[in-house]
Amino acid sequence: MTAKVIDGKAFAARVRAEVAEHVARLKEESGIQPGLAVVLVGEDPASQVYVKNKHASTIEVGMASFEHRLDASTGEAELLALIDQLNADPKVHGILVQLPLPGHLNSELVINRIDPAKDVDGFHISNVGLLGTGQKSMVPCTPLGCLMMLRDHHGKLAGLSAVVVGRSNIVGKPMAQLLLGDSCTVTIAHSRTKDLAEVCRRADILVAAVGRPEMITGDMVRPGATVIDVGINRTLRDGKAKLVGDVHYESAAAVAGAITPVPGGVGPMTIACLLANTLTACCRANGLAEPEGLTA
Ligand code: NDP
Repeated sequence: MTAKVIDGKAFAARVRAEVAEHVARLKEESGIQPGLAVVLVGEDPASQVYVKNKHASTIEVGMASFEHRLDASTGEAELLALIDQLNADPKVHGILVQLPLPGHLNSELVINRIDPAKDVDGFHISNVGLLGTGQKSMVPCTPLGCLMMLRDHHGKLAGLSAVVVGRSNIVGKPMAQLLLGDSCTVTIAHSRTKDLAEVCRRADILVAAVGRPEMITGDMVRPGATVIDVGINRTLRDGKAKLVGDVHYESAAAVAGAITPVPGGVGPMTIACLLANTLTACCRANGLAEPEGLTA
C-alpha cells in the first residue's frame, strides 16, 4: 500500500482563507478587527523566524498584528507589566509569548499571567483544565491542527484506536485530550513505554511527537493506519541540512493508509490554527457566534 499524503500546506492555506473571509465579514458587519500580540524576549534565531512568520500571516488574513520585541535582559516585572497592558487592551484579542524564554524568566508564571480568554496558545493552566474536563477552551495550536486534518481525512473519529507517542504539555497531552474528546480509544506512549512498536501497531491513528529523527519506522505502523508526524528535526545528510520528522517517511508511507509529510504536514497548520484561535477569541470577546470548523 502507498499512503495518501495529507497535504498540510494546502489544508493550512484553506484554513487561512476561511479565517480571512471571517475577518473581512467581522470588519464589515461589526467594525471589529481581530488583533494578535506577539511578545518576543531575546534574540533566539529560530524564535525570530517564527515571530516574523506569525506577523506576516496575521497581516495577510486582515488582522492587526502587535509585535513586542524585548531585550534578552528584560526583567520579570517589566514583562508581566506588558502582559497586564495587553490583557487590558480591547484591540488585542490574542496574546502569544514566544517560548522558550531566557532562563532567568519563569515561563509558567508569565504564561499564567495572560488572560485565559486571550491565551491563543492554550497553555494557561485554566485552558489546560478546561480542555481536560471537556469544556470550551483555547486549544493549543499544533494539536488542534492535527485534529482538523484527522477529522477531514476520517470524518468521524469515534471508536478509532489512537496512539500518541509523546506526553509533553504542548503537544502530546493536549493531543490525547482532543482525541479522547472525539471518542477515540487513546493510548499515550513515552520514553518508559515497554515495547513501543507493539503499542504503535495497535493504532488506527498514530501521532508522533517525540523530537527524535525518524524514530517511528514502517514496522511500527499498522497497515492502513493514519500517521501524523509532528516532529521537526534538523539533520545533516551528505553534508546538507535536511528537515525530517519523527517518522521514517519512506518505510511508514509504504504501510500506512495516510501520512503527513515533513515539511508540509503539521507545521503549516500550527500558524493557521493560531490565526483561527485569535479569530475565535475575538468572537467570544464580542459575544459573536464562533466560526464553525475552526475550533475543537
Ligand atoms: P518534548 O521533548 O517536550 O517531548 C517529547 C516526548 O517524547 C516526551 O514525552 C518523551 O517522553 C517522549 N520520548 C522521547 N524519547 C522517546 C522514546 N525513545 N520513545 C518514546 N517516547 C519518547 O517535545 P515536544 O512535544 O515539544 O515536541 C515533539 C516534536 O514535535 C519535536 O520534534 C518538536 O520540534 C515538534 N514540534 C512541532 C511543532 C509543529 O508546529 N509542527 C510544534 C511543537 C513541537 P518522556 O516524557 O518520558 O521523557
